[in-house]
Amino acid sequence: MAEHQTMTFEELAELARSSSGVTRACPCALDSYREWTRVPADFPQAQMRTACTLTGDPYLEPTYAEYHPHGSAYWSADAPIAPRYFPYNRCTAQQCTVCGRSCLRYVEAGGYYVEPRIRALDPSLLVDAPLDV
Ligand SMILES: [Zn+2]
Repeated sequence: MAEHQTMTFEELAELARSSSGVTRACPCALDSYREWTRVPADFPQAQMRTACTLTGDPYLEPTYAEYHPHGSAYWSADAPIAPRYFPYNRCTAQQCTVCGRSCLRYVEAGGYYVEPRIRALDPSLLVDAPLDV
């Protein structure tokens, strides 16, 4: 499998902006994933391309801290997208090759399950928040 490059925040923001004006209907329906959602079985994965990964240094364990300065929660549709924080620090950014919309994906690994999850990449929610260490 090809390695994908880590994207800078500006590049990620550009990807989000470039895909946010898309209005045409598309089987990917990325608009509907306002909050983290289990990837449906019939999701048209074949038409998605991986744009980049948001993971940082591969030798550092990414934090599980979440970024919610305004009272949102993991499942909130208005939760900030802060690439250094969980779960965005485990994500790949993907773009639909048919309509150009983009999304974030990662695999949630619980004690007894793994679940691929997807969320629309909304430029208005992107925050370049530094890690609070
Ligand atoms: Zn699409």
